[in-house]
Amino acid sequence: MPKTLVFLLGDQLNLSIAALNQLNKSNTIVLMAEVRQESTKVPSHKVRTVMFLSAMRHFKEILTANGYAVDYIALDTPDNTHTLHTELKRALDRHKPEKVVITEPGEWQIQQDLIAVLEASKVAYECRDDDLFLSSVKDFKAHAKGRKQLRMEFFYREMRKRYDILMENGKPLQDQWNFDAKNRGSFGKKGPGLLPIAPQFPPDEITQAVIQTVDAHFPENPGQLSYFDWPVTTEQATVLLDFFVAYLLPQFGQYQDAMWTGQPYLYHSKLSAALNLKLLNPLTVIKKAEQAYYDGQAPIEAVEGFIRQILGWREYIRGMYWLFMPAYTTMNFFDADEPLPELFWTGKTTMYCLKETVQQTLDYGYAHHIQRLMVTGLFSLMLGVKPGEIHAWYLAVYLDAVEWAELPNVLGMSQFVDGGKLASKPYVATGKYIQRMSNYCNACHYDPAESTGDKACPFTTFYWDFLDRHQSKLKANQRMGLQLRNLTRLTDQQREAIQAKAKAYRNALRAGGL
Ligand code: FAD
Ligand code: SF4
Repeated sequence: MPKTLVFLLGDQLNLSIAALNQLNKSNTIVLMAEVRQESTKVPSHKVRTVMFLSAMRHFKEILTANGYAVDYIALDTPDNTHTLHTELKRALDRHKPEKVVITEPGEWQIQQDLIAVLEASKVAYECRDDDLFLSSVKDFKAHAKGRKQLRMEFFYREMRKRYDILMENGKPLQDQWNFDAKNRGSFGKKGPGLLPIAPQFPPDEITQAVIQTVDAHFPENPGQLSYFDWPVTTEQATVLLDFFVAYLLPQFGQYQDAMWTGQPYLYHSKLSAALNLKLLNPLTVIKKAEQAYYDGQAPIEAVEGFIRQILGWREYIRGMYWLFMPAYTTMNFFDADEPLPELFWTGKTTMYCLKETVQQTLDYGYAHHIQRLMVTGLFSLMLGVKPGEIHAWYLAVYLDAVEWAELPNVLGMSQFVDGGKLASKPYVATGKYIQRMSNYCNACHYDPAESTGDKACPFTTFYWDFLDRHQSKLKANQRMGLQLRNLTRLTDQQREAIQAKAKAYRNALRAGGL
């Protein structure tokens, strides 16, 4: 067996990861590297950096306990060059391996850089498919080939059949693929009431040391670390998964789109970071949720809704990333060119929904899907923020941000830069959507029913302004028909008043306040 170097990245923390398969441990060195660039190319949220580094250091212990020799480069290791590809190059010089094995990186640019180093060094190397995803990059390309249009729903049905999830005699359970209509509940006036208390993961010695290092290295990065409470090992992530399945999953379907002041997590699983770092295998998560349905512990609309997120959306998003990179980063269907408002970095705004969502994001590195899509994403789309700036913000502020997941969700789903490759229509709505799904508007200075005047809700003003500005592009989209017909019902006077209000709000945002 040739002397082998395995380069294991910070989001490949699983003993079943492809690069570790069928290796002779006695002849293998596993390289792991903490590098500044991964926290500074966008100013990464401190909680995100702690999550990655702590999980890496815990995984190093597991590798060692399993008999692997690990060459671990920490942030403070002398001579650390602080980019992944230069650390690989240094390790090649240090260890002089006959062969290098990597699992395909999740991020396009990292893959380019690592392969360039390996090619230049002339060492023999293998870049293995990451089989901790359920659809490989090749599978997805095959699915996409020859289709005029790609949609999550059709991909998801194929995945249900392929993995035999919620299927009976070749048909979907209860003869229905999708229970989406039952996934849009809100809490009503009383709110969510008492929520089950989640297990806690107080920082152990390893995490405490990481917290100190991160505070010292990245004092200016967003976020703060006074209450880090995330699972950083497979064991802990499994505790959180089991808690979710037992206590939250039954309500997940009904309330997955609902929002409530002071309640960032509600019935959501908080498993995205653990999944993205590969602490959990997505199939394990899916099977546990499916079993809860068969055991009568959770209704079909909850279980199907949750499984759709992981077997459908998560895999579809990753497939789209690799299908359209690097072109995705330069698309701009609506020619959006506004700067990202300062409030995204401070949470200081009179718009209550944005204040709540941004503040919570800065505090915890977390917001759930609808907050990301229908509060920050919606506002940015309708205002017309430059795609590069909103992409960098999402990549910076979320605990679970990895580019393959973040970029298509932000640029494709929420900003529609691809003109409809990922989603069938832009997600646009007035403030009334937010009023229906949350209690935010109750505490707000603005009125979601108003598009002009002193109390005009900026979401509602920008909604009509957006339709008005982009109607020629939107006309081609049949699914926008109803919304555009409503636009034609406005009088010229109303339109002019909305345009003037939108201009005033835009100017206020450019000047740093609203
Ligand atoms: P739950 O609501 O409990 O959902 C269960 C799981 O489903 C999640 O843990 C996640 O693994 C998966 N999932 C659900 N929706 C998606 C989706 N659209 N794409 C990928 N996975 C999905 N997710 C990330 O992991 N990283 C990101 O950087 C990211 N950025 C996003 C940006 C925008 C604008 C939007 C609209 C969504 C983004 N998402 C991202 C998807 C989703 O919002 C998060 O995965 C989810 O909020 C994480 O919280 P949770 O684990 O409690 O999820
Ligand atoms: Fe947000 Fe408008 Fe509601 Fe205020 S009124 S919370 S700005 S949607």
